[in-house]
Amino acid sequence: MNTALLKEREVMVKVRSRVSEKELAYGFSGVVTASCTGLDEALVGKRVAVITYRGCEICEYCRAGRENLCDSKRWIRDKGEEELRIPASMVYPIPDQVSDEVAAALNFVSLAVSAVGKAKEVLGEDVLVIGDGGVSLLLVQLLKLAGAGQVFHGPESTDCRDVKYIFDCVGETGTQKKALALLKQRGTLINLVNNRTEVPIQLLDLNGEKEITSSTGSPHKDFRRALRLVASGQLQVDTIVDRKIGWEECMMEIG
Ligand SMILES: [Zn+2]
Repeated sequence: MNTALLKEREVMVKVRSRVSEKELAYGFSGVVTASCTGLDEALVGKRVAVITYRGCEICEYCRAGRENLCDSKRWIRDKGEEELRIPASMVYPIPDQVSDEVAAALNFVSLAVSAVGKAKEVLGEDVLVIGDGGVSLLLVQLLKLAGAGQVFHGPESTDCRDVKYIFDCVGETGTQKKALALLKQRGTLINLVNNRTEVPIQLLDLNGEKEITSSTGSPHKDFRRALRLVASGQLQVDTIVDRKIGWEECMMEIG
């Protein structure tokens, strides 16, 4: 790619690893090969993780550091190119101990970091994580780090009861109904999935001041926190990578 195409404060990133998990999110990492201006020259040659979206930077959410709620978010268009133009503010140099694959997964990690951030009173409390994908495995680790009591985890609800927080990474009628029944008084159901599932509930299901909320995307600060947790070894992400594929297959999957 011709570096003359770079706009102000953009850098060129040669992609080294990509990840995807169903339609939940995607991410990639790479090496900065060029910068538009001298301002970002220090990034050239650095291995970087990339935040895959940016907010408008002027709405109330962006100004409050909640870019994930911005109505004018723009995502990096990744069609499998070998090199991509990225705003310099969206790339983060990674230390040697963080692999390309793990760096590419940081957008997933930040989703889990944001969701656990919803559980303000988790210390010593029992929690349940419904799901069996990579994000659910990260939630389990993060909840233990946050000092949760017992952390139950499974593809559906388990035989636990009276739990303070339930994280639903499945988002089906059955998981939602069962989750509400398993919450303790003043417990909170946190949904990580946005879909069109209709869930018939009785108002009585929320008796005891139970709450339902959602965790939608993650703000940039949680991406940076995810990078710190991974770089310090507090969070193990290698275990959630299902399979590694080569460049040719990657191109086919992206279509
Ligand atoms: Zn905005």
